[in-house]
Amino acid sequence: MTSLRNLPSVDQLLHHADDLLIRFGRPLTLDALRLTLDETRARLKLDGESASPSFDSILASAASHLAAWTTPSLAPVINATGVILHTNLGRAPLSASTIQAMNAVAANYSNLEFDMNTGKRGSRLIHAESVLQKLLGVESALVVNNNASAVLLVLSALANKKRVVIPRSQLVEIGGGFRVPDVMKQSGAKLVEIGTTNKVRISDYKDALEEPTALVMRAHRSNFKIVGFTEEPELAKIVDIAHKAGVPVIDDLGSGALIDTAKYGLAHEPTVQESLAAGVDIVCFSGDKLLGGPQAGIIVGKKELIDRIKMHPLARAVRADKISLAGITATLLHYLKDEAEREIPVVRMMSLTAKQVEVRAEAWRGVLGVGEVIQSESTVGGGSLPEESMPTFVLSLQVKSPDKFLVKLREANPPVIARTENDNVLLDPRTVLDDESLLRVLKEALRAYR
Ligand SMILES: *Cc1c(COP(=O)(O)O)cnc(C)c1O
Repeated sequence: MTSLRNLPSVDQLLHHADDLLIRFGRPLTLDALRLTLDETRARLKLDGESASPSFDSILASAASHLAAWTTPSLAPVINATGVILHTNLGRAPLSASTIQAMNAVAANYSNLEFDMNTGKRGSRLIHAESVLQKLLGVESALVVNNNASAVLLVLSALANKKRVVIPRSQLVEIGGGFRVPDVMKQSGAKLVEIGTTNKVRISDYKDALEEPTALVMRAHRSNFKIVGFTEEPELAKIVDIAHKAGVPVIDDLGSGALIDTAKYGLAHEPTVQESLAAGVDIVCFSGDKLLGGPQAGIIVGKKELIDRIKMHPLARAVRADKISLAGITATLLHYLKDEAEREIPVVRMMSLTAKQVEVRAEAWRGVLGVGEVIQSESTVGGGSLPEESMPTFVLSLQVKSPDKFLVKLREANPPVIARTENDNVLLDPRTVLDDESLLRVLKEALRAYR
């Protein structure tokens, strides 16, 4: 029991804790010291006679509590998986000028809702809207929190208690709990399913439109494919039938491709421009999928409909904040200036040829002096382009225990996320933004490992 009595008091410890007080503040430091003393007492009781720990070791334990409490758990990682829009790794990394625009608005006051011409109150919506009008030739646009809320808002504003016609084959689950039928129910819309799982015909639309209907909806099957005995009318034909019945068409495009992915050897992902050209009245898409910007939901189309959407109470609940508005606008400007491939990271990653990736993988091998460069596949991910992959080259490392090595990489600073195949660790340069940091981590991990 002597060792228990010899333990210093919190006050005594505080006299030696200047460094912790400066770094972590008084309340948190006190918390950590008390917790450490409690833990020490409990341990001494268990161990009986063992000597009480030194001042320094108590302070060191407190410091490690403080470090754990104050290290943000959300932090950057290096994505060496080759999955470009990795949903679990935060989807799209942003372009330099997008980050700059977001920083500037975050650090300063802005004209968010201030009309610089009149000096009076303005609208936050005009900032992204004017770029979207110019880029897509649309009458009107609205940016909200994400695409899930865009779809919910559009349906709530235009179809509450009214019929919405949608093919059975499009009642999809996007992942993370977004199911088209559930969102429709939540909006108060009455779901009218037409066709079968694999086939829908123009006559199915015609029949359904015999009754008063608020909307015809199309939802993009973002993350799966229907192949084989299938049929679906062209979008322009659906629009034609709907418009003849006086019913607007809404298209939930999901990924928001503004450029044709076929030019990178991938399947063609439907673009926003194609939907608009087909005559769709409202198109919804994500800001942080193929578009390559910050999280947002973008609604574009007919002014008369978007005016009604803007006035719905949910519009306020799901509105985009100033930082994402600045970011989305900056990302859209890359498309307007025809520099998306050069400036937007996810577009740049898609555009890299296998040869360009191979050169980097070879350079990594050269620096590390180990491994083998082999052919592999990168994917786009993020619930777009299902079953599609692009040829790539990866650095393949043969290590004793690949799973343990992956753990080692995840524990590094910055953490590296890689994958294993056939008992080798594979690192795909396509999705790596900072080769230097990656190589430093790999060198260290390999040294500790062999
Ligand atoms: C991804 C996706 C959504 C949800 O978009 P978020 O921006 O993730 O909210 C909705 N519909 C479709 C078709 C999608 O692919």
